Amino acid sequence: MSSDTDSSTAQDCIFCKIGGGEIESEILYRDDHCFVIRDIAPKAPVHLLVIPNEHFTYLTNLSPEFYTTIGSMFAAAEEVAKREDIHSAGYRLVVNQRDDAGQQVPHLHLHVLGGKPLGGMG
Ligand code: 5GP
Ligand code: ZN
Repeated sequence: MSSDTDSSTAQDCIFCKIGGGEIESEILYRDDHCFVIRDIAPKAPVHLLVIPNEHFTYLTNLSPEFYTTIGSMFAAAEEVAKREDIHSAGYRLVVNQRDDAGQQVPHLHLHVLGGKPLGGMG
């Protein structure tokens, strides 16, 4: 576990269950560090979630052993953006952390959004 303020567990985590095959979901991409699914409530024509295989909730107190995983998540995002044909036009990566960002699922994940002009961040 990477955070001393993280009380969530892998046992009751929806993303761990999807990653482990306990809950069926189309896995678009998988490598040794992470996997990619489509968001169940897409906010853009393409809305994917890059999810680390290992359960951790926040970037808080992330130990260097996870830096490889974080890097792999960005590489996976780039790869699926190519596969979904949003790579050339452009896409947005989002990580929500804690309450003010509206983080719903307590398992770190990278949103990949694209398929139309997304506008500014404001
Ligand atoms: P957060 O707000 O935590 O950054 O994003 C969580 C995302 O996970 C939301 O966009 C939500 O629609 C998505 N989500 C929640 N439960 C499921 C699920 O069971 N399957 C999939 N594919 N996406 C989910
Ligand atoms: Zn989890």
